[in-house]
Amino acid sequence: MSRTTVATIHLGALRHNLARLKTMAAPARVMAVVKADAYGHGLERVARALGSEAECFAVAALGDGLRLRAAGHRQRIVVLSGPDNAGDLAEMQRLQLEATIHHEAQLPWLAAMASARGRLRVWLKVDSGMHRLGFAPERVAAVHAQLAAMAGVDPEIGLLTHFSDSEVFGGAQTPAQIARFAAVTDSFAGPRSLSNSAAVLGWPDARGDWVRTGGLLYGLSVVDGKCGADFGFRPAMTLSTRLIAINRIGRGERIGYNGTWTCPEDMPVGVAAVGYGDGYPRSVAAGTPVLVGDRRVVLIGRVSMDLITLDLRDAPEAKIGDRVTLWGSQLPVETIAAAAGTISYDLTCGMTRRVLFVEDEG
Ligand SMILES: *Cc1c(COP(=O)(O)O)cnc(C)c1O
Repeated sequence: MSRTTVATIHLGALRHNLARLKTMAAPARVMAVVKADAYGHGLERVARALGSEAECFAVAALGDGLRLRAAGHRQRIVVLSGPDNAGDLAEMQRLQLEATIHHEAQLPWLAAMASARGRLRVWLKVDSGMHRLGFAPERVAAVHAQLAAMAGVDPEIGLLTHFSDSEVFGGAQTPAQIARFAAVTDSFAGPRSLSNSAAVLGWPDARGDWVRTGGLLYGLSVVDGKCGADFGFRPAMTLSTRLIAINRIGRGERIGYNGTWTCPEDMPVGVAAVGYGDGYPRSVAAGTPVLVGDRRVVLIGRVSMDLITLDLRDAPEAKIGDRVTLWGSQLPVETIAAAAGTISYDLTCGMTRRVLFVEDEG
């Protein structure tokens, strides 16, 4: 029998979330960030669901841009971390992708690029304090001048930066980054892009001309203690499986690997067909919530590769074959991520190949 673990992707939720982002970000425009296979939701599926409502996509790598073009999408596509070598540039020109220029090493590749195929649109990335990708503030003016002089580069040069702490509303890091970015870019024309999802929620001064939103597009939040629904977004993924066994286990008996949980009384223990082999996090502890039908129960014992065990004392009506929901609209993935010591993005990105993906219009 095939696996029973299913990730249902809600196309209506994706469309709702994009529409909400557009309203919140206006007059800034929205880049729909679809890197990492659209945060695990499926790149082509998400792009098809959004269609021309997405004015611009942002991807991490050139290969994702190629996939979008191959699927027939004609809108703007920004590659957030490339080109990675001189060869990428010709491909980006051919596919009409937009490049992020973040390092001195990329400049000679650009300078050598032929303009015969049309000018490449570029975004100059400023390191305003994240210290990952980008030019140091003191280099920005000189690099901008170099880019502006290149025959193969579109004269409208975009200006981009990325925040390290934008989910810390009221913190000092984001205003410092906004100020550093403004100080070195104020004299230039060209579109600005600063905000990720959390910045759209918490830092309206940083909207610029384009926001780059991934998480909220999928209904995911990284704001501590909040889920996407708290901000009016709908989760785009439900992860579910089936209950495949119910056993009565005696008081004092140990459950699962290493017997990390002991039955306090004779009790029903449910077994659901999902585990870390599907991408459900192994690190969650006993007490993590799970839905059996509509009823909230808790996980007990260790998460194993294919199975989890559930305390069914509060679900006396549970029966084999019942739907078990690991996350979705009734159980935020943010809750499970917190239990696993990570963020929701990490979980949705972590679905493995054996999970069956289905779509609905909800
Ligand atoms: C991933 C990424 C984003 C989107 O971040 P979210 O928190 O998912 O909105 C924006 N900009 C850059 C440079 C990124 O790498």
